[in-house]
Amino acid sequence: MKTDRIQFAGDVPGIQVEMRVLRFAGTDATAPTAYLQSSLHGAELPGQAALHFLIPMLQKAADEGRIKGNITLVPQANPVASNQWQSHQHLGRFDFFSGVNFNRNFPLLENFDTSALPEPDAPVSLDKRIKAMLVRLALKHEIVLDLHCDDESENYLYVHENYAEDLRDLATALRSTAILAGDSTVSAAFEEACVNPLLHMKASERDMRRRAVTTVEFRGLNDVNPATGLADAQGLYRFLVHRGVVDDASSQLGEPFSGPIAPFSRVEMIRAPQGGMVLYHVALGDIVKKGDLLATIVPVPGEPESDIQLCAPQAGRVLTHRSLRYLRRGDDVMKLIGDEPSAQAKPAGSLEA
Ligand SMILES: [Zn+2]
Repeated sequence: MKTDRIQFAGDVPGIQVEMRVLRFAGTDATAPTAYLQSSLHGAELPGQAALHFLIPMLQKAADEGRIKGNITLVPQANPVASNQWQSHQHLGRFDFFSGVNFNRNFPLLENFDTSALPEPDAPVSLDKRIKAMLVRLALKHEIVLDLHCDDESENYLYVHENYAEDLRDLATALRSTAILAGDSTVSAAFEEACVNPLLHMKASERDMRRRAVTTVEFRGLNDVNPATGLADAQGLYRFLVHRGVVDDASSQLGEPFSGPIAPFSRVEMIRAPQGGMVLYHVALGDIVKKGDLLATIVPVPGEPESDIQLCAPQAGRVLTHRSLRYLRRGDDVMKLIGDEPSAQAKPAGSLEA
């Protein structure tokens, strides 16, 4: 394994950050190549834990000559978000200066030529230079896995709808319960920036048996422990073997993914009509019927008549909760994968801010 440390000057004198990039060289130039990054949102650690356990597995494979395709790993993809603490709380989702989500506004290229992107010493702000570097690193690879997590959540994937069916094997390997399929790149999330050149290729030129571009939501923020880290690493390893990036005859993909492939239009974003405490009546993974009680918002403790009951707008499966049980008016309370399109579905774009 080769380790590079890419230095970025900060936007003011005296500040500098570093990005650690790990590389395993493949022995077979015809094998697919893979890029994995985690913690683009700073403290989203399940992916970081998975890479922590995956890297020794890859090192063992390298020692035994079983790495076929080049592999690049960036376990801490965003040093700015990682360092974003305020008053003893970690934030890490939005750039302090611009207010922009760190996983939005990536450069959308129409091909794989990254030569025009800003270099680490270019005269543009640090967030743009970091984003350019991540895209530059990723677009050299056919498999791009951006490892995130939700708040409290099941394990699921975000994929462009054109390629959702092609990632059943990843969902199988990772034991994901759902694939959410988006239909645009308007948010310019990292995954969308990496899928954009594919959308501009002729179908005959792209071999989707070799390619995979996705955002992995490895459950919730606090699902960080040795057991899940190791299990997720084993899932990533199974996928890399299945796709021929790593050679290991003993690795099996497992029972085929049987969950839903749901367009964003089927995701019910349940929102808080008023601020207050939220009490959940359903657990992650629960199957609910239309009208079932999902959560109660309590704006005035001790006055049950002010309680607001949030019921399922349609039948579906509970995908996420909020970990902080105190919400503002209009906040997302939970995601429910509905059986039908949601009456509230947006025409395009990401589900969350
Ligand atoms: Zn994230």
